[in-house]
Amino acid sequence: MSLGEIRGKIATAENASGRPDGSVKLIAVSKVQPLERVEAVLEEGHRVFGENRVQEAQGKWPGFKERFDGVDLHLIGPLQTNKARAALDLFDVIHSLDRPKLASALARLAQELGKCPPLFIQVNTGEEPQKAGVLPADLDGFVAESRGMDLPIRGLMCIPPVEEEPTLHFALLAKMAARNGLEGLSMGMSSDFERAIAQGATHVRIGSAIFGARDYS
Ligand SMILES: *Cc1c(COP(=O)(O)O)cnc(C)c1O
Repeated sequence: MSLGEIRGKIATAENASGRPDGSVKLIAVSKVQPLERVEAVLEEGHRVFGENRVQEAQGKWPGFKERFDGVDLHLIGPLQTNKARAALDLFDVIHSLDRPKLASALARLAQELGKCPPLFIQVNTGEEPQKAGVLPADLDGFVAESRGMDLPIRGLMCIPPVEEEPTLHFALLAKMAARNGLEGLSMGMSSDFERAIAQGATHVRIGSAIFGARDYS
């Protein structure tokens, strides 16, 4: 799908749920994609991108940022504490705050650097053992703990289990955000972003629908 088609579908989904145009931010997920595909999307004027690995992003984004103004880079994958400093150097938003140890590391760095990007807490809504994220039962406590460290918590993020209807997970995430007074909802990918918008997504993370399938070979 072209970027224009995706934008059109986002606008239709916004309107269908009575939300203003432009209330959903489109994060183009460029992980693993060949540089020329990413460059083509930059040339089209898009500036908001998502990467899931710090090291991979370090290899491509400093160069793109030199050539293109206004890049807004989002980390959407797991963050190891030993990469936290590098992540704060490179990323404008982090969607994967998922444990107390990382919260402490980010809080220390924020003190030292005098700044911290907006953060989303990742919630493991499906309670899948192999998946990162705070368990739903632990979320309210973790939000309070993170706020106690002066971390700028912007919202919640989830990746629903592949085999389940995502709408239930999106609705759960929205409910948890509302009860914690959080506005941001990072949810919805290529296959389900319209359903995520219907449940109140503020950020959708779309990769393959924009760039084509990822080739991991
Ligand atoms: C890769 C990835 C996406 C994008 O997935 P698509 O199905 O290609 O749209 C979204 N969110 C996260 C966390 C990802 O790792």
